[in-house]
Amino acid sequence: MAAMDRRLLMERSVAGRRAVTVPEPDVPLTPLPDASLLRDDLLLPEVTEGEVVRYFTLLSQLNFSVDTQYYPLGSCTMKYNPKLNDEMASLPGFSEIHPLQADETVQGALRVIHELQEMLGEITGLPGVSVGPLAGAQGEFAGLLIARAFHEDRGEGAVRNVALIPDSAHGTNPASAAMAGLEVVTVPSDEHGNVSVDDLRNLANERTAVFMLTIPNTVGLFEPNILEITKIIHDTGGLVYADGANLNALLGLAKLGELGFDIAHSNLHKTFSTPHGGGGPGSGPVLVTEELAKYLPAPIVSENDGKFVLGSPDRTVGRLNGFQGSFGIVVRAYTYIRLMGLEGIKAVARNAIINANYVQSQLKDDFDVAYDRFCMHETVMSARRQKANGVSALDISKRLIDYGIHPPTMYFPLIVPEALMIEPTETESKETLDAFIAVMKKIAEEADASPELLHSAPHNAANTRLDEATAARKPVLRWEPEAAD
Ligand SMILES: *Cc1c(COP(=O)(O)O)cnc(C)c1O
Repeated sequence: MAAMDRRLLMERSVAGRRAVTVPEPDVPLTPLPDASLLRDDLLLPEVTEGEVVRYFTLLSQLNFSVDTQYYPLGSCTMKYNPKLNDEMASLPGFSEIHPLQADETVQGALRVIHELQEMLGEITGLPGVSVGPLAGAQGEFAGLLIARAFHEDRGEGAVRNVALIPDSAHGTNPASAAMAGLEVVTVPSDEHGNVSVDDLRNLANERTAVFMLTIPNTVGLFEPNILEITKIIHDTGGLVYADGANLNALLGLAKLGELGFDIAHSNLHKTFSTPHGGGGPGSGPVLVTEELAKYLPAPIVSENDGKFVLGSPDRTVGRLNGFQGSFGIVVRAYTYIRLMGLEGIKAVARNAIINANYVQSQLKDDFDVAYDRFCMHETVMSARRQKANGVSALDISKRLIDYGIHPPTMYFPLIVPEALMIEPTETESKETLDAFIAVMKKIAEEADASPELLHSAPHNAANTRLDEATAARKPVLRWEPEAAD
């Protein structure tokens, strides 16, 4: 194969080439504004249509995607997303409506939001639902504003300003708490990867606004003391928040409301099969008990005599975005849940758990398992054994690219050294898992026999090892013409 043409579009420019033919204008010509208002530094590439198409198509082929390769990226739930979801979201009745249209003209769309609210309420056992938040982190922020409003209404707003957060938490949890004006106090984990209940008991007091717990927790484990934990917090008058970004392992098997959680969010763009990555649109509905529903952010769709109406609860914490949330994602999640049904939803959870435990059991002779017990939807392994021979989790991840597999999440959670967080997801076949396991075993051998090979991986990707620090500090975001000398 010929070497890939790596020139940027600007570098392919040849004066006079065109990709478009502009028709003769059928309106009067208007003179350009005064020359002082015109830019002359705006260089545009001069290329043919064929060159533009080839350039962008080649770029798209450099992408790694769930639709092309295996993607065991822990905590991100990169499962396969049924194409039917996209088909439904592109129906004109959903894709060609305007958020300012009168409610009577978009009854079908409002009904979808309403039914998704109901389904998410049923799945999580938290009946108050707003699909407004545009990301998991924004769902957290909304949930924490709700907790603050609740304490303020009880006259405790000034004192209850602490968020207790485990040391294994996803980074967005402390960030959202700080943005909501809460002081973050860290709760240590015990040697089994659970929240240290003794520490929690000592830290929970009349200043506790909320305790935030990821469930299953960020080392992929179910907290066995969950009922005790929620009771400790409730006894002090605080609320308990569930980060349910990845609910794969619980769907249809356990309800957050029944475990004692008051507030939660879930990521439609993880658990409910919407494609994500690259900072694209997301949706992180916030879910609460009936008691807290009056604080939910707009929009809420309610049903009144068979009519669906958009509204905002009495004591709403406000609005987090311009209109009705990421509606296309709402349609995808709705389609997915309807497609699955209750039995299908349960099968998602069971298969997610089986797949993670299968991978863990097959790899535990080759890599250390952070906590050697049954896991939920993901397993956290550690490359500390390989590190003794100079091979890091990063080297292993980069080497996986050579075998056509996306790296797992690395160096997270922070409490596990050289962490490799593997989430197989339920949509992968045993053959795919076996191929992944075989590659990981091969890499473990390579780490012993030829560490150099791993330090310089990847070897057959479009880019080799990047200087990530320089890329982050001095990013080249703009094409500059070469200085004329
Ligand atoms: C992904 C994730 C989040 C944040 O979701 P975003 O949509 O990226 O803001 C929060 N918590 C956990 C556990 C996650 O995996």
